[in-house]
Amino acid sequence: KQEEKLKYHARDVAVVRAKQAEATLLLGSATPSLESFYNAEKGKFRLLNLPERIEGRPLPRVEVVDVKKEGGLLSEKLRAALQKNIESKKQSLLFLNRRGFANFILCPDCGHTFKCPNCSVTLTYHLRDRSLQCHYCDYRIPAPGDCPKCQGHRLQGMGIGTERLEQEIKLLFPETQVGRMDRDTTSRRRSHLQILKRLESGSIDILIGTQMIVKGHDFPNVTFVGVVSADTSLHFPDFRSSERTFQLLTQVAGRAGRGEVFGEVVIQTFNPDHYSILRAKDHDYAGFYQEEIQFRKALEYPPFSRFINFRLVGNGEKRTKGMAEEMGRIGQSLLKNAHGKEIEILGPSTAPFAKMRGKFRWQMLAKGKSPQLLHQFAKELSSRMDVQLKGKGVDLDIDVDPVFIL
Ligand SMILES: [Zn+2]
Ligand SMILES: [Zn+2]
Repeated sequence: KQEEKLKYHARDVAVVRAKQAEATLLLGSATPSLESFYNAEKGKFRLLNLPERIEGRPLPRVEVVDVKKEGGLLSEKLRAALQKNIESKKQSLLFLNRRGFANFILCPDCGHTFKCPNCSVTLTYHLRDRSLQCHYCDYRIPAPGDCPKCQGHRLQGMGIGTERLEQEIKLLFPETQVGRMDRDTTSRRRSHLQILKRLESGSIDILIGTQMIVKGHDFPNVTFVGVVSADTSLHFPDFRSSERTFQLLTQVAGRAGRGEVFGEVVIQTFNPDHYSILRAKDHDYAGFYQEEIQFRKALEYPPFSRFINFRLVGNGEKRTKGMAEEMGRIGQSLLKNAHGKEIEILGPSTAPFAKMRGKFRWQMLAKGKSPQLLHQFAKELSSRMDVQLKGKGVDLDIDVDPVFIL
């Protein structure tokens, strides 16, 4: 029963199952996870290379635009590429991984921003129904006209989302058919497929979308992909943010030029020298891997260590904090008794999202080289915490090799 509490990565479960069944497991990706590639290098996995694209099609040409020098939402390069594509009757994708109109609303007079009362995030402005929404718990309120704090009249939207991008594109290219694919336009059943059908039949010239447009669509007439902002995933407070950015950019760039015509990609970024972006530009997984693996090694992050995240989620702020401190004490005492220097404890501390859906969140990370010792530590800590948590309204989630630490 203890075991059910521990959550594992699906890939790792598959690896273990395949080993038990003496079966062969095939992991396929243009951008394998750092852990998998490392395992291949170390001979734990065998690497099978498919160096070429289907039918030997060349990879798209990628240009990086430094938006610090450009200002505005769409750079000269991106606009020119869209214009050219429209004229030659080709289709374009524009990728922006944020939905809504403005990221958040700010009062320039007093600095007030609108926060979700249930989650520690700002509310996103949606123009269609003039609402402020939380993208984590769906809390929503009508957008106020004036600042509730200082009664100022100058509330303004900061940052852009797909809804605003759609508006801008329609203004810039009034004659073209513009589509948008994000969670707001695909909430109805099959609406997702309908948008893709319209793209396939050619009744959309420019499709704007979030992560939803990235995967697995093959449209031969799409020859241009614009990444409006490559930076959204780069600044996540998580050691995998570089890897995630590289993967996302590689996948989205790969949407361009799946047919006969050569593909082109423009990536807009505030960080044109970041290796995630430069390596994605060159379609250079091996180069990315070499840089990222050094960073991981220097900080002893996975694959050079393993993590287990112990997260406490509770209704009461004080009680959750108290339980987190108790978990810290128990964790340290377990280390003293048995695992000594093999395991390092980080925290407990408030989670990067300190409050989600009305619940308070604390977490503690255990880091070590031996999966067996970590696992044993997790089991012991979990059973000790079960006793502590009884009737307290605080739950413990244990995430083994967490993909996100948020
Ligand atoms: Zn104000
Ligand atoms: Zn919320």
